Amino acid sequence: MVKIRAVRKCFGSLEVLKGIDLEVPSGGVVCVVGPSGSGKSTLLRCVNRLETIDAGRIWVDGELIGFDEREGRMHMLRPAELCRQRQEIGMVFQRFNLFPHRTALENVMEGPVAVKGVGKAEARRRAAELLERVGLAERAHHYPAQLSGGQQQRVAIARSLAMNPKLMLFDEPTSALDPELVQEVLAVMRDLAASGMTMMVVTHEMGFAREVGDHLVFMDDGVIVEQGAPREVLAAPRHERFRAFLGQVL
Ligand code: ATP
Ligand code: MG
Repeated sequence: MVKIRAVRKCFGSLEVLKGIDLEVPSGGVVCVVGPSGSGKSTLLRCVNRLETIDAGRIWVDGELIGFDEREGRMHMLRPAELCRQRQEIGMVFQRFNLFPHRTALENVMEGPVAVKGVGKAEARRRAAELLERVGLAERAHHYPAQLSGGQQQRVAIARSLAMNPKLMLFDEPTSALDPELVQEVLAVMRDLAASGMTMMVVTHEMGFAREVGDHLVFMDDGVIVEQGAPREVLAAPRHERFRAFLGQVL
């Protein structure tokens, strides 16, 4: 579903991604861990083209992201095309970013109605279904301020799913939450993984990575230092930097 090849990204003179190669098969869950500043968020942002890569290629579902390759040259896609690509990739951030003056239901309806032109009745029906799926059927008419952080994050997940993405990106979705609210969000993500969604998850939740991830990637300083089946790499980390990192988060 996702193929990342030799991807490089610089901010000015700072090279943040130094040649990343990674694949996520359809229905697979890849967890990305690593110290602050290692390039994890930048990698996710390149996949849904919130950042433009400087070299390499990224394909999602066979489609080159952000560019059109003709006669051996790369041409930047037009904004309308970028928009279309982005609609197919859901992203959930650390901060929930819900519209404060809209109810949970209205937040979930917004994308399909405004971007995809889905009728309101249909969008409302589907939004109610999605809120039920994330365990928030009774909170549909609450405003974000009336919801806990964990509930807001579940609304944010439902809102992404309302666009029927092929791929879901999660950037530390639980790290802004109080500890007792983390599990309810991870449970929704676990169900989503079990339903066959393809997912890339930046997280410090090693339990989640071990149990739900099919593949674990450790990034440091813009490169993938170590990767493999989560249970195996966590049981026997080979690189010193990975061992040191695990010593801090476990
Ligand atoms: P964290 O765990 O703290 O979220 P991260 O692994 O997600 O870290 P990134 O956010 O990808 O790291 O940042 C990687 C590097 O790129 C950092 O040095 C950061 O300061 C830098 N960086 C990120 N975004 C920008 C930007 N828009 N302009 C300049 N530098 C940036
Ligand atoms: Mg980050």
